[in-house]
Amino acid sequence: MAVPKKKTSSSRRDMRRSHHALTAAAHGECPNCGELKRPHHVCGACGHYDGREVVDIAAEA
Ligand SMILES: [Zn+2]
Repeated sequence: MAVPKKKTSSSRRDMRRSHHALTAAAHGECPNCGELKRPHHVCGACGHYDGREVVDIAAEA
């Protein structure tokens, strides 16, 4: 089994973790109902996508 030769210093460990920050998920307004939705995804509130109803929310619930 490969084993690290030296202990990773706290500085080097923290430099590695400098890329681990999370970013907020992209979102935009639904053109149909105005609810926030993710781009390129069906609206979770009204079931619309690309100007037409794709999912019947009333039937799904
Ligand atoms: Zn919507």
